[in-house]
Amino acid sequence: MVQPRTVIVGAGLTGLACAFDIARAGSDVRVFERRQQPGGVVGTIARDGFLFETGPNTIQGSSAAFLRLVSDLDLASRLIHTGAESATRWLWFQGRLVALPRSPLGLLTTPVLSRSARLRLATEVLRGFVPPEDEREPTFEAFLTERIGREATQTLAGAFVRGIYAADLSELGARSAFPRLWDAAVRRGGLVRGLLLGRKKGGEESRSVRVPRTSLVSFPDGLQELVGALRRDLGSRVRTGVGVERIERFGSGWNVATSDGSSVFADRVVLAVQAPAARVLLERANFEEEARALAAIGHASVTVVHLAFASGLELPRGFGYLVPPAAEARGSMAPRALGTIFTSNLFPGRAPSGGSSCASFYRTTDVNSLSDNERIELARADLRLALARTDVPHPTAHHIQCWDDVIPRLAPGHDRRMTELTGALRERCPSLHLAGSYIGGVSVDSVIATGRATARDVLRRERRA
Ligand SMILES: Cc1cc2nc3c(=O)[nH]c(=O)nc-3n(C[C@H](O)[C@H](O)[C@H](O)COP(=O)(O)OP(=O)(O)OC[C@H]3O[C@@H](n4cnc5c(N)ncnc54)[C@H](O)[C@@H]3O)c2cc1C
Repeated sequence: MVQPRTVIVGAGLTGLACAFDIARAGSDVRVFERRQQPGGVVGTIARDGFLFETGPNTIQGSSAAFLRLVSDLDLASRLIHTGAESATRWLWFQGRLVALPRSPLGLLTTPVLSRSARLRLATEVLRGFVPPEDEREPTFEAFLTERIGREATQTLAGAFVRGIYAADLSELGARSAFPRLWDAAVRRGGLVRGLLLGRKKGGEESRSVRVPRTSLVSFPDGLQELVGALRRDLGSRVRTGVGVERIERFGSGWNVATSDGSSVFADRVVLAVQAPAARVLLERANFEEEARALAAIGHASVTVVHLAFASGLELPRGFGYLVPPAAEARGSMAPRALGTIFTSNLFPGRAPSGGSSCASFYRTTDVNSLSDNERIELARADLRLALARTDVPHPTAHHIQCWDDVIPRLAPGHDRRMTELTGALRERCPSLHLAGSYIGGVSVDSVIATGRATARDVLRRERRA
């Protein structure tokens, strides 16, 4: 058996994207994945004519790294995108769903903000933004409150942040968690100016596959198609059901001990796993300082409850709804979900004809003590509340997915700490690479970019060796 030059730990999209480029460059690579299937949190389950996504349901049409990978895998003809009918997003606001504004102008008339909050928002453009001189990163909450006022921050941004990070505004760093938004605000001297002018800059021509930037994309058989294509391309280089238990330095390379009792020697190792899993391997390899840095990163655990109805449940048009954190915006009763996606509205084939489906996202801490039946009943009760109807039928099918410590909380200073950590590691041990959502961002687009950047780094160092 050929010993791989590079071992990648973890076959999520980070690891697969990294392996794809290393293999295409003609270098030996092997990926170990402890679960039975690759893809990490990304995967699609087909049940009773419905498609349930285990993690992301959609990718932004503006995701350059995702589209480039799709193109490199010859998957562009399989892409599907949402139309105008899915563009409506709802906000749970004081006891009912209210359509969120879809344009900056809409923000100035939205009923979810008071007159003074709208005025505050409108005048942001007049107040130039200067980032703190000492480079100290504000929380996303502090940054937005200074820019657009407390009410818009808590009601609108608070809901989005819960939807993306399952976190509170105060837990995230403005620059670390939203680097593009921060950069645009710094470059253009304001948030609104950054949003409006920054958007034009990306340039359609830089994107390899043409889909509307504002649409959401997927594949007819779900995001699993991307994972399947990567898996096919990599073939036997990916070994599933085999976890990496330990990595140990061995001469100039690494001895990698796996859960099937064997070990593999490699020139270099890429840890393409979540920070808690990387921490364990680093600790065992006596990289205590690095392990401590990763232990300090907080994470959210998320539970997704998919409900599917063969008939009898018509969903509102649009993508789904979010629930804001602030009591005054929520009203006296609110869904317990962070948000719900109306999955059958997004693409054809997500539900059989006449059927409907939705996915509700919960902080696992909120539903930990519940049985699966109770979780289904909770999601049903949330739906009753959100749709303002008492006759939500029993679901025909369901799927419950729990992910532990899955979304890193990119707190103030996180980006600089990671730059320092990876820089120091490069000096100390150039044959060990850290990759994953805590390094380059949590979105699918970001982890693909991180995986591919890591591959370039691996190949560069290989050439130098
Ligand atoms: C519910 C949910 C919804 C999301 N929605 C969106 C969305 O709408 N849009 C978007 O852009 N992003 C979304 N994301 C974020 C995005 O999907 C993830 O950040 C990204 O897919 C993570 O990829 P990854 O490869 O870094 O990590 P993972 O997918 O976690 O993969 C890491 C892999 O490493 C394996 N592993 C761990 N330890 C070991 C070991 N010792 N040996 C071998 N294997 C190991 C794990 O089993 C896992 O398969 C969502 C995430 C979740 C959880």
